[in-house]
Parts: sequence; structure tokens; C-alpha cells
Amino acid sequence: MIIEFASGDGTVTRYLLVLLWMCSGSVPCFATFVLKVQPVQVCDDAGSNCTNLGPAGGADTGYLYASQLDTIWSQAQIDIDLLPTVQWNNTAAQRLTFTEQNGVFDGTFTSASGAAMPGLPTDAVQVFFVKDFSGTGYNGTIGTGWVDNPLTDPAHSARNSGLAELFIDGRITLSNGRAIMANEGFISDSLSGTFAHEIGHLLGLRHVEDVNAGAGNGSTQDPSFTLAASSPNLMWSGGPNYSGALTLTQNYPVNSLQVAAARHNGMLLDPDMNGLGVLQAVPEPSSFVLLGLIAAAVSGKLLNLTGWLAAMRTRVSAG
Ligand SMILES: [Zn+2]
Repeated sequence: MIIEFASGDGTVTRYLLVLLWMCSGSVPCFATFVLKVQPVQVCDDAGSNCTNLGPAGGADTGYLYASQLDTIWSQAQIDIDLLPTVQWNNTAAQRLTFTEQNGVFDGTFTSASGAAMPGLPTDAVQVFFVKDFSGTGYNGTIGTGWVDNPLTDPAHSARNSGLAELFIDGRITLSNGRAIMANEGFISDSLSGTFAHEIGHLLGLRHVEDVNAGAGNGSTQDPSFTLAASSPNLMWSGGPNYSGALTLTQNYPVNSLQVAAARHNGMLLDPDMNGLGVLQAVPEPSSFVLLGLIAAAVSGKLLNLTGWLAAMRTRVSAG
């Protein structure tokens, strides 16, 4: 049918091929939802000694988030759209006490010096990259441990820790969509897994340990299931360790109940209270093509099809 429309005008066919090719690249053809995530890189008051965004010694920009977060969350047909990183110069915010981390979550953090806390972006969640927060237990004392500088135990999990506000429809209503990542230089790609895990919390997913223990109520907003301790899942806190022998989605699978819960809660989580949730549905490109062809056939204005497809490419690229 498409070829028939293109008869005598090869341009249409070529544009369709371009569209298909783009879908096989970085554009998530099967994304049903998009989630905007704003990384906040915390530095000292002078704008120096910034928290790493990637592994120790690695590049601070780009890293693997963009592709790895997408790979993990593509299991829920959620496209993670990373907004440009915001730098926040505030020494006190680099190592957060328990009180301070709550101040970050609810947006009331203040300190004697340094810049004011960045505000919430529109229709997005925020992830703060700090050097440490209370409770990581780096020195083996839960609640009092702080990551040493220089590090004395590079393999400790304090290098791979996060905290996030849990939003579950009907159960926990207050959430500003904020998460904290402690990073003085993680040692593996599990950094992306932790980042994706915190996003899971923001979308209302509990730890598997908690669900297994009966904390979930079994609704789509708060899934209930039981997993063996040896069974990988994105939302384990103390489950199977990351294995380099497995793919990202094998290390960090999400099940259908988690997918349903994440979608449900994400569409309702509205930190900026503008009426739109942080998780937003996106039309699938294939549907656009079909609708466009039907529209063109009805109107008889086939000459407009090329321009319409060009506009479509722009929209797809923006997705
Ligand atoms: Zn967690």
C-alpha cells in the first residue's frame, strides 16, 4: 500500500526508509512513555571538587547513562530522556547528613554558604550526585559512615548507593521526585543499574526484599510478588550482585507487575503540580506513518506527504 502511494514519486519511499533506519538507532521505536531526568552535579562552594558523574578516572560527561538507562527501562517501554546536567555549588550538600538529605528531598535545604538549591525542572525528576550521604555505612557503621577521601576501601558499596523518594499512588502521596546518588567513583557499570534502580523508586517500586516480606498490597500501584534471592531484579537492595557475564536486562529485569506499577505511578507523580505527571505517553512513530498515509489518501494531497514526513522526522528525533 505504501509503495502504491509512492508510485511515480520515489521520494516518499526514501523517506520511509530513513524513518525505519532511525528507529534501529538511538531512537526508541517502541517507547510508549518518556521520563525526563535532570542530573544535578554537586560541587563545592567554589565550583570545584565536583562529584563524579561516572567511574573514577573516567569521563564525567556522557558516560553510559544515556544508553544504559534506556536499555534497562526499555523493558517497561520507558524512554529515559536525560536533561542537561545542572551544576550546584554547595560544599555542605556534598556530604549530606540525614537532616540535610531530607532537606534536599523536600526542597528546603539551606546552608551558611554556597548556592541555593536548584529548583525542580518541569515535568521531570531530579537526581543529585553527591559524594556521600548519611547511612551509607562506608566504615561499617550504618548511619554514621562517610566515604573517606582518599578512599580506603574502593570496593565498598558506599560507592554504589542511592536514595529516592518513593511515590505510590494511594499510599504515599508526597514526593518531589528527587533522588540522591553517592558517587566518589564507582568501580563498574553497576552505577547505571543503581541509577535505574533509584528511578524505579521514584516511580513507586519498592525493594524486592520488602515486597517479598509482604509490604506490597498487591495492587497495580504497589505490586506484590515473591522472587528467589538468586533471581535478579532491578529492585533488589541486597539481591544478586551485578555480573559482567550477564546483559544489563539480565542483571536488572523488571517484571510485568513492576512495569504496570511504574507506569501508573509515574503518570500520577507530579512534583511541580502543573497537572502533568513526570511519565508521559508518546505516540509511536509507526502509528504516525499510518495515520499520515490515511490522511493523505483522504485529502488527495499526496504532495504534502514529503513535508509531513520531514516534520515527522523532526518529532521522532526530538523523542
Ligand atoms: Zn533502593
